[in-house]
Amino acid sequence: MEKKCPECGDKIIGRADKKFCSDACRNAHNNTLNKDNKNLIRNVNNRLRKNYRILETLNSKDKTKTTKEKLLRLGFSFDYFTSLYTTKTGSIYYYLYDQGYLPLDNDYYLLVKREM
Ligand SMILES: [Zn+2]
Repeated sequence: MEKKCPECGDKIIGRADKKFCSDACRNAHNNTLNKDNKNLIRNVNNRLRKNYRILETLNSKDKTKTTKEKLLRLGFSFDYFTSLYTTKTGSIYYYLYDQGYLPLDNDYYLLVKREM
């Protein structure tokens, strides 16, 4: 069976277990993979950092209340958090590092700070 280089599409000549046509293509391919992974991690880290800054700004004391609208207006993304904490009564706190929030009724949010 003829194999093709995943980087350039050329036919691979040589050992059966060879995956790329050349070292150059193998390196280029691996660099691309690494770069993509780094971009993904960087993007997620940026989102987490932004969320954290928003919570930190709103919750300047230890505890406060805010609204969903306010969080969204500041660019908060509810998809990104670092950990969850479920209380005995079943309430779920979402944490960005030491800053947390608890969804309340009517689109209100309780912002809390955890002792680290
Ligand atoms: Zn190639």
